[in-house]
Amino acid sequence: MSNSLTERRAERLLAESDSLKVPVAVEKVARHLGLIVQARPLGDASGVLVVESGRGMIGYNANHSQVRQRFTIAHEVGHFVLHAAGQQQRLFVDKSVFRRDQASSKGDDREEIEANQFAAALLMPEMLLRAEIERLGLDLDDEVDVGELARRFAVSTAAMSFRLENLRLIRGSM
Ligand SMILES: [Zn+2]
Repeated sequence: MSNSLTERRAERLLAESDSLKVPVAVEKVARHLGLIVQARPLGDASGVLVVESGRGMIGYNANHSQVRQRFTIAHEVGHFVLHAAGQQQRLFVDKSVFRRDQASSKGDDREEIEANQFAAALLMPEMLLRAEIERLGLDLDDEVDVGELARRFAVSTAAMSFRLENLRLIRGSM
């Protein structure tokens, strides 16, 4: 699995937008790219990315929890950076963006998997994660400590656990 390019692109974007801080200010990162970010009544969708004339607008579900909204925005930023670059028109409509069983997704979900990997790297950069774990002396075998780490990064505990597994900072539960 080679997602180191995704990791580097996310890190570079964080550095360029002066956003390598916990919790990552994801809307600031989006605005750095010239994206408009707005809460919308989206029904059962989590988020949309609308690219018109090369300019992008992210809409996120106004009724979702803050951690979910943050992941959605980061996911749409991923689509913009990875899949809409240089395009005049593109539309992404996302239902449920974070899925636990990414490995079982089909090939045509490639863009969704990439956007999720980018979102995780953007909201939970490896260097900041390692620094926080060290600074706070967290025990990642302890669910309470993983929950605390998730709270500090303003992500869901599920997203944090999945990220820690991917970085092999904890063993997978499957
Ligand atoms: Zn998507």
